[in-house]
Amino acid sequence: MVTSSLLGSIPRIRHGFGTAASLVPAALTPVWALRPAKRQVHGSRVATIIEPQQQVGDADGFLTAVPGLPAIIITADCVPLLLARRDGSQIAAVHAGWRGLYDSVIPAALAAMGEGAPLVAAVGPTICTACYEVSQELADDFTRRFGPAAVPAFRHLDLRAVAEQQLRAAGVDEIDHVGGCTCCARDGAGEPIYRSYRRGDRGSQMHSGLYITPKGEK
Ligand SMILES: [Zn+2]
Repeated sequence: MVTSSLLGSIPRIRHGFGTAASLVPAALTPVWALRPAKRQVHGSRVATIIEPQQQVGDADGFLTAVPGLPAIIITADCVPLLLARRDGSQIAAVHAGWRGLYDSVIPAALAAMGEGAPLVAAVGPTICTACYEVSQELADDFTRRFGPAAVPAFRHLDLRAVAEQQLRAAGVDEIDHVGGCTCCARDGAGEPIYRSYRRGDRGSQMHSGLYITPKGEK
């Protein structure tokens, strides 16, 4: 399990990013059975979670203010973004690959969260610039839309930089980057730490998420 020290500093929030060895992070085990039934489609729809095992349909962002209900996403190269208010009153999880970033799923999630205490953000394991070669057309689209920082090397996108740009533009200025690259990060034995779609992993992918602990629970 990969964690963010920034998110870890928020009261009442439990969170974790999945790895190849732990597809569901241990922190989510207590609420795993309550997770929404969803289908991620690389879109920009954001669902508000208000009840256990909610049927949310197609969505790529999930938010809730209800203690004990998890906001969870699946990724395998795309940006897994976890958000929480400083006072622990509201959380969100966003799945943001290049399509989601381009279609503004992050601004959509921030807008859906509305007003409240300041937000902190943690960007989890994401494919790195060196590993993420794309078509010239897509690289040009990203340069036009997000500026040169989005394409720091020839035909290679920096998804973390675009996510951070969108967060800062919306006034989120406490941002933690954790977990390294889903494609090229290796453990001490040389084995991949994460699942990576680009590297060829299909099907079983990594879950990341968070929840607000119910009152009375430590
Ligand atoms: Zn890499």
